[in-house]
This record gives sequence, C-alpha cells and structure tokens, in this order.
Amino acid sequence: MPQDPYSWIEASLATIHKANWYRCVQTIDGRPGATVLLSGEEVINFASNDYLGLAGDERLIKAAIYATEKMGTGSTGSRLISGHRELHRELEQAIASWKQTEDAIVFSSGYLANLGAIAALVGKRDLILSDQYNHSSLKNGAVLSGAEILEYPHCDMETLKTQLSQQRQNYRRCLIITDSVFSMDGDLCPLPELLDIAEDFSCMLLIDEAHSTAVLGKTGAGCVEHFHSTGRILIQIGTLSKALGSLGGYVAGSANLIDYLRNRAPSWIYTTALSPADTAAALAAIKIVQQEPQRLMQLWRNVDYLKQLIKEQLPHLKLLPTESPILCLQLPTAADALRVGKQLRNHGIFAPAIRPPTVPTSRIRISVMATHEAAHIEKLVSVLSKILYRTPI
Ligand code: PMP
Repeated sequence: MPQDPYSWIEASLATIHKANWYRCVQTIDGRPGATVLLSGEEVINFASNDYLGLAGDERLIKAAIYATEKMGTGSTGSRLISGHRELHRELEQAIASWKQTEDAIVFSSGYLANLGAIAALVGKRDLILSDQYNHSSLKNGAVLSGAEILEYPHCDMETLKTQLSQQRQNYRRCLIITDSVFSMDGDLCPLPELLDIAEDFSCMLLIDEAHSTAVLGKTGAGCVEHFHSTGRILIQIGTLSKALGSLGGYVAGSANLIDYLRNRAPSWIYTTALSPADTAAALAAIKIVQQEPQRLMQLWRNVDYLKQLIKEQLPHLKLLPTESPILCLQLPTAADALRVGKQLRNHGIFAPAIRPPTVPTSRIRISVMATHEAAHIEKLVSVLSKILYRTPI
C-alpha cells in the first residue's frame, strides 16, 4: 500500500495544538463597532482595526450601496483589461492629494500592495534591509522579489547603518522596508533616521502605513505627516481596510513610481480590480477623515485615557511601550495569554491573545477606537485589575 501523502497534515495540526498555537475563527454578527455581537453575545470590542469606527458608518454603507447599484457587485476584470472605473482614479487621486504625493495606485488588499510593490522594485542583484518585526506581507514580498534579505534588529538604526556600510556596494539597488506602526507591538519606526540613512546610502525606503493611515498625523495622512516628513522621497504603502473601514490597499509616491507599478506589479496587473462598493466606501471614508478631524482627536483622547487609567490602577502591568492605539499586555506564555483572553471574554470584553509564531512573545493585544465610550475603557481596566489581581501573572 502506498503511504497516504496527506497524513503529515494531521500530525502537523497535533503539533500546533500541543504548542497552544492553534487558531480558530470567532463569529461576529451585525455591524462592526465599539461593541459587537460575538457568537450571539454583546461584548466590548478591543480587537478591531476599525480605529475610527467607520466600518459601520451609515455614509460608507450608503456609498457602497449606491456604487453597487450603479456599477454592479464585481469589477469583472483586471484594471488593465476591463475592470477599470473612473471611481478607482477618484480614489487614487484622493489618496495622493491627502498624502501630498504625485500619484497613488490602489490594490485589492494591503497585503497585495506590499507583495506587488516589493517584487517590482527589487530582484536578484539587489538587497533588502528589513526590520525584524515587519508584517508578514513585507517579509513575503521580500522573499517573492528574489533579492538578498538582511534583517536588522527591531528599530536598531546602528545595526542598519553597519549592515549598509558593509554590504551596500555589493548590490545594484537597495530597499529598506519597515512597518510605520508595528502591528503587534504598537510602536513607531524611527522615520526621520530611516530617511537620512536611506539618503546617505542611496537606498529606496518603503514604509507600510497600514496602522497609521487615518490614525497618525494632523490630518490622519499617516506616519510621514506625524514626523513632518511630507514631501521627502519614499514609497508609502497602506491599507483601506483598517481605519478607513473598507477593503483594499494603496501605494503612494512619485508619478514615475506609480506608472512603473502599473506596468510591473504582478499583484496589481493580474488580479481583478477593487469592487465598486469597496472603492466607494474608501473614498467616502477619506472625505470623512478630512472633514471631521474630531474623530481622530477622540481616538487619541481615548488612547490617553486608557493609558492614564492603567498607570493609576495597574502600575505594575507589563505593557509594551506604544505610540499608537495598539496596546500590548505582555504575558509569559501562550497558555497565559489564552487564559487572560478567555477571562476577558467571560467578562464581556473582546481582546485577543496573540501568540508565536505571529509574535516572538505572547500577549493580549488591545486596540482602541474613537467610538469607545469612557465606560468601555473603564470596564476594561477594572476587569483587567480583577483578573490580574486574582491570578497574578
Ligand atoms: N501591513 C500590516 C502592517 C498589517 O497589519 C496588515 C493587516 N494585518 C497588512 C499590511 C495587510 O493589509 P490588508 O488587510 O489590507 O491586506
């Protein structure tokens, strides 16, 4: 009898279970918001990337319905064949004008934007310098490109400079890639230093603004605006699916860069264009972010309130240092993270356990939204005190 060629899958699943790394989906019902129905039970939602609470906003929903009625559900083809609509260009121009870049291009997801851009920009004769904690889409884009990859320790600019001074001359092009806000830690990349290093060593710099778009900067334009670096040359990638409440990704930069990507990014050329509904919702979201700065202000007031309560009521809590709406409570093991996640859930709070291999150390990831009320934040802190006081970690 020949051996079952699929039997390794069951063995692999058993290993994942044993390490406490097994993941499964949880069902949300109804519209997303600061509270959601999780498996039929109302919980306070600290698990969402919908930082401004726009995914359930009536205006985005209406824009998506209108676009669907006018243009149908699917785009029916890739942008270069039959899927292109004027609405796509409107969205791209809105992104470029918000970020003050010459142009922008939208992809079907942020993940695809990273894969496509990196694979188009560098190849076999080139070098990529990548922050150790970068998102999976940046890491996989680097692998897909075929370039040599050197990781530098998280945000360690001295090591990055040493690597470049030793290696830069051996390669044709060089690309530095980094998250702007690190998605599982909540800290920020040192953008001004990265821009200077990129300039000194003649490297391209690509930052992933997935968690900073509509979150950081005076107008929400992101990390580049936050660091007053608008106008400096770099490649800005982001997503339409977090604070903008829709789906899709973008690259913003020079007109030449965008024109080049339209001709060379495989994950843009060979995939179906963004749907009319997602495109229209993202466009409506950008308008709201620009017209209602109070949303962004409320988000940061909520972040500050949570940090203040934790400082007062849980001074010994091991929180990772954060400069974003993402707060991470560090726990010794995956089993501890799962237990605290479950206890939070039992008290009506949804904040997921994040474990290896996604991150090096286990944690509870708390993400704050502009639409959280003070009572939601107060309940989170009081439940955390109860759980951690009863079963100290
Ligand atoms: N980059 C980062 C840093 C992310 O956190 C994510 C989503 N988790 C992505 C890219 C991918 O974005 P999208 O969900 O739009 O594919």
